[in-house]
Amino acid sequence: MRILVTGGAGFIGSHLIDRLMTQGHEVICLDNFYTGHKRNILKWLDNPYFELIRHDITEPIRLEVEQIYHLACPASPVHYQFNPVKTVKTNVLGTLNMLGLAKRVKARLLLASTSEVYGDPEIHPQTEEYRGNVNTIGIRSCYDEGKRIAETLAFDYYRQNHVEIRVARIFNTYGPRMLENDGRVVSNFVVQALRGTALTVYGDGSQTRSFCYVSDLVKGLMRLMNGEHTGPINLGNPDEYTILELAEAVQKMVNPDSKIKLEPLPEDDPRRRRPDITRAKTWLDWEPTIPLQEGLQLTIEDFRDRLASLPENRIHSDS
Ligand code: NAD
Ligand code: UDP
Ligand code: UDP
Repeated sequence: MRILVTGGAGFIGSHLIDRLMTQGHEVICLDNFYTGHKRNILKWLDNPYFELIRHDITEPIRLEVEQIYHLACPASPVHYQFNPVKTVKTNVLGTLNMLGLAKRVKARLLLASTSEVYGDPEIHPQTEEYRGNVNTIGIRSCYDEGKRIAETLAFDYYRQNHVEIRVARIFNTYGPRMLENDGRVVSNFVVQALRGTALTVYGDGSQTRSFCYVSDLVKGLMRLMNGEHTGPINLGNPDEYTILELAEAVQKMVNPDSKIKLEPLPEDDPRRRRPDITRAKTWLDWEPTIPLQEGLQLTIEDFRDRLASLPENRIHSDS
């Protein structure tokens, strides 16, 4: 099959491409390299079944494909808040263009939506029926509301133009290839512990998240794409941790001497987050298999290798 992956040079996109290429598909990776990197897809560049296009999805593009995994959008609060207007354009104009493309070539499109559509949730764990508690005018809104309108566009193209859509609501995902300056919690803690600097816990660390290892997530995305259900479907790991528990786990695994430093909680930071994955289990026969300890170990090893190649980094060598 010929498959387009938007945001394919990013964290999740590049892991997805690895699996699609291994399965023998023809893959087009489309990326503007805002947070993605060529090194993530380097191993495929000479492969005749792989094509890389540097393109910004806010501009139209004509391609012939059978499936579209639409992932292009910065995912870390630091990056999506850097240029919030651009984040809105990527979600609105970018998704519109990809849906227009899917309509023209009759491709199936999977939208990478997010647990952020639930905002700071009032029900716990979050089911797909929950409509969310999102601030329309806050600093996270460019992303949260951007993804909400992206979902709306997908369902309107489905109803109006019969575009085959799949909507995944992805919960916090981590693993190798996250950027070292990504700003998200797992990469921050791992990099800080490896460098021997204090782990920055925002607020009192009692807020919770549920962390899914990237290989589990990629399997879920592919099962959703190739199954019969439109969604939305939550994809994430239901094991919930406080941020302080995560800091302590990383500390223990990398550098028991590292300190924990409390910093102010960012505005609109959700208090609790955990997916109800009943739909994914029953509709897709999918659930995560990699526990946090195992996924963290693989992530730590990847960061250790990458940081070691940078001469300016002083890395804690234990464990
Ligand atoms: P990422 O930042 O590593 O990847 C996003 C990719 O999209 C990057 O390669 C970036 O260069 C590219 N991109 C951004 N704007 C673009 C544009 N206008 N045109 C073309 N390319 C553009 O993030 P990720 O963690 O891999 O996330 C991928 C998708 O999954 C995103 O849509 C994100 O919203 C969604 N998601 C991720 C998580 C998570 O925890 N990682 C959680 C929920 C949802
Ligand atoms: N589009 C695109 N590639 C295509 C087809 C459409 O980028 O192969 C863009 C198109 O330029 C438009 C958007 O997708 O901005 C929506 O297209 P649609 O055909 O649904 O709407 P229209 O062009 O009629 O406004
Ligand atoms: N966080 C933290 N220290 C950091 C980075 C993040 O305590 O160095 C917290 C953040 O306030 C949030 C949680 O960790 O409560 C997850 O943050 P992340 O940016 O990874 O994802 P999101 O908030 O989008 O779920």
